[in-house]
Amino acid sequence: MPKHAMAVVPAAGIGRRMGAAKAKQLLQLNGAPILSRTLMALDAAEAVSEVVLVVPLDQKDYIIKTFVEGYQIRKVAAVVPGGAERQDSVANGVAQARRMGAEWLLVHDGVRPFASPGLFRRTLDAAGETGAAVCAAPASDTVKHAGEDGMVCATLDRSRLWLAQTPQAFRADLLADALDRARREGWQATDEAGLVERAGGKVKIVPGEKTNLKITTPEDLVLSVGLAPFPAPMLGQGFDVHRLAPGRPLILGGVAVPFDRGLLGHSDADVLTHALMDALLAAAGLGDIGRMFPDTDPAYQGANSLDLLRRVVAALGEKGLAPAGASLVLMAQRPKIAPFAPAMTQNLARALGLSPAQVNLAATTTEGLGFTGREEGMAASAVATLKPAGLV
Ligand code: MG
Repeated sequence: MPKHAMAVVPAAGIGRRMGAAKAKQLLQLNGAPILSRTLMALDAAEAVSEVVLVVPLDQKDYIIKTFVEGYQIRKVAAVVPGGAERQDSVANGVAQARRMGAEWLLVHDGVRPFASPGLFRRTLDAAGETGAAVCAAPASDTVKHAGEDGMVCATLDRSRLWLAQTPQAFRADLLADALDRARREGWQATDEAGLVERAGGKVKIVPGEKTNLKITTPEDLVLSVGLAPFPAPMLGQGFDVHRLAPGRPLILGGVAVPFDRGLLGHSDADVLTHALMDALLAAAGLGDIGRMFPDTDPAYQGANSLDLLRRVVAALGEKGLAPAGASLVLMAQRPKIAPFAPAMTQNLARALGLSPAQVNLAATTTEGLGFTGREEGMAASAVATLKPAGLV
C-alpha cells in the first residue's frame, strides 16, 4: 500500500460558470478563500506528502503570496503554470511532481475545500490495489437519459451509477502515460480517471462524501457557507478619544450636534464612528483605522467618517464578512445626546447594512470626572460582531 502521495491541484480555471470578476477558486468563503481552504484540507490529510499547485501564469506571484503564504499553507512544494484546458494543467502538475520523484499521485480540484483527511487516505489505499481509484458519490436521484428533443429515452439503473469527484489517486507512471496518450491522440475527458480508463487501466470506485462539494456556481457558494468553518475572531473592540476645541462642528454618528465646541481631528473627528470602525476592523483581524486611513495622508483631511465606515464595510466584504451587530457607548459630559441618538443609530446602521435594532447606542457622562467630565474631550467605545457575507 502506498503510504503517501504527492497531490496535484489544478487551480488555473477562470470560472466562467460563476459569473464573478475573479476565478471561482479565489473567491472568499466565510473569511478565507476557497483555494486556501482546499490547501488547508490537503495540509490536514496525512496521506498527502506535498502539493504541486497549478495556477494561471500571470497570477503566480499573487497566488503564492495571498493564498498560500497568507494562510500559512505548509505543503505547497511547487507552483507551476496551467495550460489551455484542465487536462493540460494537470499534465503540467504531474510532470512537475514526477520530476520531484513522486511515485503516487492524488489529483484534487482547487474548488473542493471540504474533502476529509480520511477520503484522501481511502482513495489512495484503493489505488494501491489497482493503480487508479476515484472517489464518487452514489446517484441518489433517478437518472434519466434524454434525447436532443428533451424527451426521456431511458431511465438508467441508478444502483450502478456514480458521480465522480476528486480526490482521484493514481500510480504516477500510469497517469503520466494516459495524459501523454491523450495529448498525442487528442482525447478529452472531464476527469483524469476517464483518461486512464480509455488507456485501458482499471479504476476502483471509493464511496465519496456528499459534503465534498465542488464549488462552481453561485448556488454552490450559497450551500458552502453552511459547511465552511467560520474563522475567529468574530468579535472586535474599538476605542477612540478626540479633544474638544472651539470653532469646530460637533459630528457624532454622522449627525451635526449643536454645541459651542466641536471635536478636533484630521477628519471630521466623529469619535463614535471611529470607535465603531476600529471594532469592525479588529473583528476581521484587519488592524485599525490608523493603518487603513493614515492621518498623514491628506486624502483624509476633513473626511466624512460615514464614508470611511462604508469603506471599512467594503473591506470586510472582500474577506467574505459583513457586520452582524454593534454596541456603542459615548462618554461626554455635555451636550445631551438623547434627542440625536435615533438619527445617529440610523446613519450607522445604514452604513453597516443593518437595521437600527441591530445597532445599540448608549451615552454616559463620567460624573464630572476625568477629561470627559472636565469637557476637555469625548471618548467612545464600541463592540462589533461579524457574520459571513454570503455571496461575494
Ligand atoms: Mg479618531
